[in-house]
Amino acid sequence: MPGGAAVVPPQFTNVSSELTRVQTVIRTRYTWAALLLAAALCLGVAAHLLAAVTLPVPPPLVVPPDEPPVVEPPVVVPPPIDLAVVRPNELGILPILMYHEVGPVESEWCRTPDNFRADLERLYGLGYRLVSLDDFIDNNIDVPPGLSPVILTFDDGTAGQLRYIKQPDGSYAIDPDCAVGILLDFRERHPDFGRAATFFVYYPIPFRQAGLVEAKLKHLVALGFEIGNHTYSHPYLSEAGAAEIEKELAMAAGRTAELVPGYQVRAFATPFGQLPPSGLRHLLMAGEHAGVTYKHELVLLAGGNPCLPPNHVSFEAQAAPRIRADQLRLDRWLDYLRDKPELRYISDGDPQTITFPAVILDSLNADSLGDRKLSVY
Ligand SMILES: [Zn+2]
Repeated sequence: MPGGAAVVPPQFTNVSSELTRVQTVIRTRYTWAALLLAAALCLGVAAHLLAAVTLPVPPPLVVPPDEPPVVEPPVVVPPPIDLAVVRPNELGILPILMYHEVGPVESEWCRTPDNFRADLERLYGLGYRLVSLDDFIDNNIDVPPGLSPVILTFDDGTAGQLRYIKQPDGSYAIDPDCAVGILLDFRERHPDFGRAATFFVYYPIPFRQAGLVEAKLKHLVALGFEIGNHTYSHPYLSEAGAAEIEKELAMAAGRTAELVPGYQVRAFATPFGQLPPSGLRHLLMAGEHAGVTYKHELVLLAGGNPCLPPNHVSFEAQAAPRIRADQLRLDRWLDYLRDKPELRYISDGDPQTITFPAVILDSLNADSLGDRKLSVY
């Protein structure tokens, strides 16, 4: 061999270098695997340590489950009624009741839980059934024949209207002694009474439990109740100028829209029952402030007497009266309506037909009928 040098056969060199390369690869892979394993262990230990020092996460707010979604009933044509027996009067007056606090001490502005329960029993026994304010606005008063509508409203978002009580597991339940709790319980026992009420809240903390405002408002809507506008800070509107009125109403509308996206507030109730000067009253129906608009279809006053229905010629959507729900006024007006059934709204059972005695035909606002039928007897 030339030069006598030991020459490693080429194929041997290749095997040796291949072995070296494979060993390197294996070493590298083992190194990476070891590094990854170590990192994973470190992460695990770190997570464990972190979990040990992290404060316990408060249990999530558990809102009591809503009722199953309402399934639209099929269109049913009500059976004919005996007009002489039922004596419908769908131009008659109806009570829109105005509550404030439900709490332990009875007063002009506070009903005790037991008295509120008694009010519901009394209304039920007198032949009233709940109608929502939205249905009233839509001229869709739907109660069985021979019965009468009643509308419940609650002003100010007081603590006793909707109170949550924290449960041992950290969830919240509706206080059975607050207005909503009492309404839900009553409907359980009298499903045909219906479930409807409108809560005219102002801000910043309706129902007075900070941190629960959004959950409560959403819960109310999920339960089928309604939210109304009662201004943002409950000012005296008789002393307010145009800019302040629009600001107060738009801020309240905007806040409700933030908390319950997609919810449409349709009614306004005047704080203290005060109206602005006549030249500014249109601002209660619609307005704008800082890019936020509002539009109301009904303005409720704070006191007075039973309300006329939407088909009555003297019905005023800009000034619908309510009855303050204290003992004195409830006695006065519920007894009055019991003793004068000829004045009271009595349903024919069919919201698509407006029925009343011929002698009061002059009281009809024919423009309000839309595609509803007229039945006069
Ligand atoms: Zn108020």
